[in-house]
Amino acid sequence: MIKKIAILGSTGSIGTQALEIVREQTDKLEIELLTAHSNADLLIAQAIEFKPNHVVIVDENQYRKVKDALDPLDIKVFTGSKSIEDLMEITSADTILTAMVGYSGLKPTIKAIENKKRVALANKETLVVAGELISALCIEHKVEIIPVDSEHSAIFQCLVGESPDAIDKIILTASGGPFRGKKRADLTHITKADALRHPNWNMGAKVTIDSATLMNKGLEVIEAKWLFGLNLKQIEVVVHPQSIIHSMVEFNDGSIKAQLGLPDMKLPIHYAFFFPERTHSNFRRMSFKEINTLSFEEPDLETFRNLALAYEAMEKGGNLACILNAANEIAVAAFLDDKIGFLKIAELNENCMAKVPFVSKPTLNDYIETDSETRRIAKSLL
Ligand code: NDP
Ligand code: MG
Repeated sequence: MIKKIAILGSTGSIGTQALEIVREQTDKLEIELLTAHSNADLLIAQAIEFKPNHVVIVDENQYRKVKDALDPLDIKVFTGSKSIEDLMEITSADTILTAMVGYSGLKPTIKAIENKKRVALANKETLVVAGELISALCIEHKVEIIPVDSEHSAIFQCLVGESPDAIDKIILTASGGPFRGKKRADLTHITKADALRHPNWNMGAKVTIDSATLMNKGLEVIEAKWLFGLNLKQIEVVVHPQSIIHSMVEFNDGSIKAQLGLPDMKLPIHYAFFFPERTHSNFRRMSFKEINTLSFEEPDLETFRNLALAYEAMEKGGNLACILNAANEIAVAAFLDDKIGFLKIAELNENCMAKVPFVSKPTLNDYIETDSETRRIAKSLL
């Protein structure tokens, strides 16, 4: 049977890799919907090649260009972020790959779940912002989230055939990013170019900076809590610079399972598209003859404050992770804009967590308000 796929954020790093998979598996995968923020040229080229029924270009200034290009092909073109939400009701896609960046994933993911679509989740920020609400919606609508983030895909794969009660803990691996081993004094004059040079992964700018500050691992700790129903003490982070072990699960009998592979996001995307089947791929294979070391270190929470902040947000719950996420989005954008230094990112996050009002049992409206209030305060603190 052909699987019908929607890719939200098709012009990004995850989106384009997902389309590489579809290109190689046209007998098994079909594209129903593609969305982008403002990269009209790439979106048009993708739509011409993959012939979806629907396309969204969020940026209204680019709408005419995309519409004029795709109208003759009978591809319906929409604009504005609300249309992504609306299309979750209309699209005949059965799997929605959420590959947009940041908070923008929240509302479309909610609509996808309400419309009983399977979610292949790359957009970790959605679970960080509103994990409790998303988890409740998944239960209510009997919807499965299949993780695409490599660590969570690894854990998900380790858990196939296991009872959740048998998990003692999970061990999330972190590459440590480009500044592993550095101390705060070494990081004062870090430039954007230094921070964008990730040793193992080639990703979008936001997640690359998050990897350099260890915020990415912090977001992933929170993502894991909601995906696998775990508590703080059950989620350990270990730095593993080679990024070969993508993560591990330790069970109650002391056994540890790990999932290994080359650092290539196509593998977890492919797994999420075909789950519960495992199907053939032509991806480059790992060889133990070429890898002579797998090493492990403790993360440095003093230098990389963001990981400690994420643990704090997870422990206190409520809207604190939503505050952390919004502050971090503003901080990373400001860093990429050369407005603040590298160390200021975690500082801004911490200040916002202290300043934005805490809500212990947030509703969707509370999350929306928290996000905009945090952005306002974060900008005033830049
Ligand atoms: P990119 O920045 O490369 O791509 C983001 C995509 O989202 C683009 O298609 C972009 O469109 C679109 N987009 C940006 N802003 C908005 C918005 N406000 N509304 C709607 N669409 C928007 O990101 P990545 O592919 O690197 O990451 C996507 C998600 O996957 C993130 O949540 C990230 O944390 C997660 N992830 C990424 C990994 C990776 O290897 N890249 C690994 C694991 C998780 P346009 O091109 O037009 O700007
Ligand atoms: Mg990851």
